[in-house]
Amino acid sequence: MMCALQSRRRSLRHQGGLAAAGPSSDYILDMSATLQPAKQASAPGAGVPTIWLDGKWYDRDTATVSVYDHGLLYGDGVFEGIRIYGGKIFRLAEHLERLYDSAHAIWMTVPMPRDEMATVTEEAVRRSGITEGYIRHIVTRGVGDLGLDPRKCPRPSIIIIVDTIKLWPEEVYETGLKVVTAGTPIPQRESLSPRVKSLNYMAHILAKIEGVQAGADEVLMLDSAGSVAEGSGQNIFVVKHGVISTPPIYAGILKGVTRDVVIDLARGAGYEVRETMLNRYDVYTADEAFFTGTAAELVGIRQVDGRLIGAGKSGPVTRDLRTRFQALVRS
Ligand code: PMP
Repeated sequence: MMCALQSRRRSLRHQGGLAAAGPSSDYILDMSATLQPAKQASAPGAGVPTIWLDGKWYDRDTATVSVYDHGLLYGDGVFEGIRIYGGKIFRLAEHLERLYDSAHAIWMTVPMPRDEMATVTEEAVRRSGITEGYIRHIVTRGVGDLGLDPRKCPRPSIIIIVDTIKLWPEEVYETGLKVVTAGTPIPQRESLSPRVKSLNYMAHILAKIEGVQAGADEVLMLDSAGSVAEGSGQNIFVVKHGVISTPPIYAGILKGVTRDVVIDLARGAGYEVRETMLNRYDVYTADEAFFTGTAAELVGIRQVDGRLIGAGKSGPVTRDLRTRFQALVRS
């Protein structure tokens, strides 16, 4: 017993030592900075993060999962991220459809009908009191043993988290994002379909870290042949001579709910929108470029790999679509 305690103390000291000196300490500090935004919901009047986990209600400190859950052991599971605007859940049906399709594609049955999931989600939002926030649905393969075999996991676990999210400071939405191309490509699409929003985000996380290390706000991910795919958690659009282009789903990207909303909005406003393969040249020489995503919303790109995009700030089409998007989410 003494031995275990001593060894734990030694290990804690060791971790402290690592964080205190050497090049790795900067890295640890850099990365921890990205954890800050999730705490925002504790501001007065902003509501309280609320978690529903397999039928019970928890808060941030009490919600825990088993270390034998295959979602943790293997990333075996699926998830969704959804925004709450003015107390209303934006595109809940579309997100739940993608969640259930993702689960089906990985041979997993969500142990709750979709309409009940919608009801519990609404109840979670109501209980939280959060009116401007973000919902994370997670369905893991559930608790099993230490082997891969999912037959050892009798029941998937469902988690619904209601909290807030903020990816970048507010001014970035005015200035546009500084973006670099990541060396890590999106996963090969026949290995795991990018249409599955699975708990395996390692390639996208590695790309994100490359961006952090390069001092950029976000990354552009390519497929293994070099075609433009998406951001670490966003879809990408470019504008050239008034025409809006975005990679098609078969490029190996996630079919973003925001992407679909923005395509409809843009077409409705009279813009021509093309779904077409793009390469980095198309992005570098675009008049404008922007990302879309649930967490990111619609955000301009000012620079990619050191090249200014257009005038080097959010362009007129981007601003117009952002205004239309903001109006839509609150309509
Ligand atoms: N691509 C990836 C890899 C993502 O994680 C996300 C965020 N879900 C998106 C695109 C944008 O999708 P959505 O608009 O549905 O949030």
